Formats: sequence, structure tokens, C-alpha cells
Amino acid sequence: MMNRKIQPIHILTQDVVGKIAAGEVVERPAAAVKELVENAIDADATAITIELTDGGITSIRVSDNGTGIPAGQMKMAFERHATNKLTTAEDLFRVQTLGFRGEALASIAAVSKVTCTSKTADAEYGMKAQVEAGVFTDFREAANPVGTAVTVRELFFNAPVRLKFLKKPSAEAALVSDYLLRLILSRPDIAFRFSSQEKTVYRSAGDGKLESAIYAVYGKDAAQAMRKVSGNFSGVLIDGYVGVQDLARGNRQQQSFFINGRYIRDDVLSRALEAAAEGFVMIGRFPICALNLTMPYEQVDVNVHPNKLEVRFQNPKAVAEAVEAVVRGALNAETIADKLSPLPDPPKSSPPPIEVVQWMDDTETPYTPQIIQSTRQVLREPSQAFLDDADAHEPVPAESEAVQEAIPGTEETVSIRYIGAAFKTYLLFEAGEKLLLIDQHAAHERVLYDRFMQRYQGEAQSQRLMTPMLLPFTANDISKLSEMKEELEAIGFTLDVFDATTVAVRATPVILGDAEPVRELLIDVLDNLRGKPDTAMRERMKTRVAQMACKHAIKGGDTLSQADVEALIRQMLETGVQPTCPHGRPIVQEMTRREMEKRFRRIP
Ligand code: ADP
Ligand code: MG
Repeated sequence: MMNRKIQPIHILTQDVVGKIAAGEVVERPAAAVKELVENAIDADATAITIELTDGGITSIRVSDNGTGIPAGQMKMAFERHATNKLTTAEDLFRVQTLGFRGEALASIAAVSKVTCTSKTADAEYGMKAQVEAGVFTDFREAANPVGTAVTVRELFFNAPVRLKFLKKPSAEAALVSDYLLRLILSRPDIAFRFSSQEKTVYRSAGDGKLESAIYAVYGKDAAQAMRKVSGNFSGVLIDGYVGVQDLARGNRQQQSFFINGRYIRDDVLSRALEAAAEGFVMIGRFPICALNLTMPYEQVDVNVHPNKLEVRFQNPKAVAEAVEAVVRGALNAETIADKLSPLPDPPKSSPPPIEVVQWMDDTETPYTPQIIQSTRQVLREPSQAFLDDADAHEPVPAESEAVQEAIPGTEETVSIRYIGAAFKTYLLFEAGEKLLLIDQHAAHERVLYDRFMQRYQGEAQSQRLMTPMLLPFTANDISKLSEMKEELEAIGFTLDVFDATTVAVRATPVILGDAEPVRELLIDVLDNLRGKPDTAMRERMKTRVAQMACKHAIKGGDTLSQADVEALIRQMLETGVQPTCPHGRPIVQEMTRREMEKRFRRIP
């Protein structure tokens, strides 16, 4: 041993610390993409676009429609250890979000030229920040859409050694692609678009269906041939798809495992999968899979490796057993081909829509009804309701653009003619001998609600979630939910009690889409539907789900055409359907010709 000179200990400068950390966090473009995309996901984005130039070495752009960064926090976001996800060390064990160390943006900006634009929904202006090698070079208000876009140019421009270690652009792009494939599979609820050199590589629907995500990354044939896996074994929920036989590959590259929604690599899981697939796969080949394992966060440490691809299970043997048992059980099940068949379209009763209506938002409309009548009665029995009204039986003059409708049970024909909209809220129709005023918002709700109910008749269609939702409830609520398990299943929910305070939702009614916070809906059900579960309750629950779906569809800005409104009126005239919105507000007010003539003193 040589005698070496002992160097005095000293504190590293911030700059050196920054670069060391940057090297750890963003060793290559794929790592930067990962951090940026995880931030977008943490910001509740439902659509995320990733664009690469030269494998990300020249530029990476990640844009999202998430919550955005409040203007006052924009600078802070680039500070090291700035995070909105963690405050105490104990939180470390509970973090369910993805990136949480609060150093990604700072690290990326330390070794590149970053432009970040962001806007929150309630801010008038967005903000734009530019940071080069960790120094702000620009910071100002800017006009951006809600959400965040981060562009990283010239990664490692000030770290030549790191730059030299990068692979060819195509190889770096392949690493990004590989990461995004996993992400798309783990998050079918997010619409991803990934392009490299301006060519689209992946584009996922974001409709919440794992089937669609598999379709996006593996293509149609593979998607149709994969086998559904779903089960619960010693406390581990396993959900997803496995491909065997012709789909098997020469390596494990196409095996994707997710723990609580996060992609991980683990030999134990691969071996368990392969053991289960023995006999379904030729020797030397490997099954492919997209499998999600859901287990209590306390039973798995996902923070073993900084890149978080590796995990440490509290009981690896039990987990392996679970995978093997559930996959083996599933390999005899059907393919997903039939699951890809879409929902039947809502009935199209009307000709091509003419957009005449500008929908108002959800504000309550004050009613000052001139005529308070039972509109239901009036609409159902147009000739009966005014028996004392001689004029009602007068022949109706035919209008050029009027619709002739025969009313069952009467010989009468009523023409319906759209006149126009008043106060951008009420649609005026001339219907036979009546002037009808339709609250467009209420009518819209009615039409959508009826469509949802129609789709929701009979056997409720259910949509499996790739990543079961773990929702917190009180122990009391959980026991009530488990009592109602059967009813919930009948309306399309699949729930499992996960632990004392958590319920795992594995499937939701298709008509809900990703519309509603499921927890709120379940609470709503719990709070409003007391008593013993029975068939009537099932129907009321259906109604509730349809109401929620409908409410969301309206918020989604769906517009109703004139044809839709006419169809609604016709339907109400024909069937006497309740002329109220699903919340019971009236849709229609009316004035008869006779009443009008009285007012104008044409008749006494
Ligand atoms: P971390 O994600 O670990 O908190 P980052 O450096 O990745 O740290 O991000 C710092 C902070 O910037 C985040 O905590 C978040 O508040 C904000 N932020 C970053 N990216 C986004 C984004 N895409 N949308 C909204 N906020 C973001
Ligand atoms: Mg982050």
C-alpha cells in the first residue's frame, strides 16, 4: 500500500452538487422523458404528447393538459427539492405519485436549455420560463393553453462527458419508445401521442380500456389473441393480458409488469409467468404480458433503485405464487377479441344535425311560467286537455318545413315548426295549436339521459380497469359496500375489499366512461340508498349512474341539434314521456293559440 496524501473534507459547491444529481436523475433522454411525463401524470393530465428530435438529444418536448403550474410557483418548480408531493419523511412510504424527489426539473435544467410554458385553469395568463444550465434567462407572462409544456433542448450541452456516453439517436429513441410502451399499457386512461422525427410512433385512445392500449402498442392481431387474466390470490390482485403460443417471443422484452400501476422489472415475476405458461409456449420462447399487480403499498418497496424499475417485495414467494396461480387459471379463458367490439351507438333518430343551439352552462333558470298547466297532461293528450276548447280541433295549416306527426290514439296530426331561440335559452316551437317554449338545457339533459338509460337497460356493461382504483372509505362504508356487492355488480361495478379502509374498484359501468369520480358516486349511492338491497334499489342505482354520466356529457360540451330537439318533442307528444329534466325541472312551457288570442283580445 502506498502512502497517500489525505485530502481535507469540504462541502461541494451547489453547482457541483447540481451536476452530480442531474447525472443521476437524467442520465439519458429516456430518463428526462420519464420525469417530464410523470410530472404531467401527477398533474392529472388526460392527454400527453411526447415529441423527440434525434432521440431527444436535440430536443424533447412533453406537453400536457394537466393542472398547470401556478404563476407564483413557476420559479420554485425549478429549485432543487421543490415538490408539491412530499413534506415529511413518513410521506415517503405513502407516496403513490410517480416522481416525488423534487429535483427533476432542476436537474434537467442544469444540463440543458429548458423552456417551460404553463397555465392553470383559473389564471388569466400563462407563464413562460427559460432556464439554461440552471440559470433563468427569461421569465414572463405568455398566452398558453391550460396545462404545461416543457421543451428540453441540447441535453448535456454543458456536460460533454455525459453527451459522449449517449448512444446513437435511434437507440436513444428506442429507449424512450420502450418506456412509453409500458406507460401506455399501465395508463389506458391517458391519451398518449408519441412522435419521433415528426413521425407518430404510438397513439393511444385514452378511453380507459386496457384492450385499447394493447391495441395501440401491439397492434390488432396480437391484441385479439391475448388472454385475459384477472384474479385475486393471497392479497394480490392480478389483472391484465398474457400472450402465449404464436405471440411468444425470443426474449422477455415484451413482458410488462406493473405494481400498483407502476412499471417494474422483476425476474421473480417473469419466472412465475413462465412457469404458468409452461405447455402454452415453445421451449426457448417467452410469453408476453401486460400484468398489473395491486397490493398494499406497505408490502412493496418501489424505491430501491433510483430509476424505480426494481422493487423489493416483503414476501416475494407469495407474490410469485399469486402470479403463477392466477395466470395459469386464466390461460384457458377466452381471447379478448370479443371485448374489442365497441358499444352500440346511441340511437340516431334524427337527420344530420343542424347546429342552431348555443348551450348555456349549468346555471339555474328562473321560471316565471305564464301558464301553469300540467304539461304532461297537455302533451300526452293534446285533444283531451282542452275539451272546452273548440279551436283545438281546427285543422292545422301545413308548414313548408314542418314535421307531420300522427299521434297514436288520436286522428290528429300535429305540425312542429322551430321558430327560434329566446334569450339564448328557450327554444320556441309552434306545435299544432300551441306555442311551446323549451328549456334547451333541460331538454338536452333529458335527451342524453334517455340515451344513457337506453344503453343501460338489461345487463349492465362493465369496463375492467387495468389498474384497479384503490379508494379510501371508512370501515363502516366498506361494510355497507360489501353488503351491496351483488347490486353493484349488477349495475357494472366490481369491487373488492382491499384492506380495512380501502376498496379496490376493478371495473366500472361502461356508460360512466371516465366521467365521474367513482368514489363520489359510490358515496352518493351509500348515502342515498338506505335500506335492504333489492331490485328496486338496483334500478335506482342505475338511474343515478345514468344521471352522472349524463351530467358529465353535458359538461363535456355536447351540443344538441335542432333535429334532436324536434325528435324530443315528437317523442314527448307520442309517448307522453315525462317532460321534465332528469332532476325534475320542467322542460316545456306552453301557451295555446286560444290563450294568446285572449290576451290580444281577439276573442273574449
Ligand atoms: P417533483 O415532481 O418530484 O415534485 P419536479 O422537479 O419534477 O419535482 O417538479 C417540481 C414541481 O413542479 C412539481 O412538484 C410540480 O409542482 C411542478 N410541475 C412540474 N411539472 C409539472 C407539470 N407538467 N404540470 C404541473 N406541475 C408541474
Ligand atoms: Mg417530478
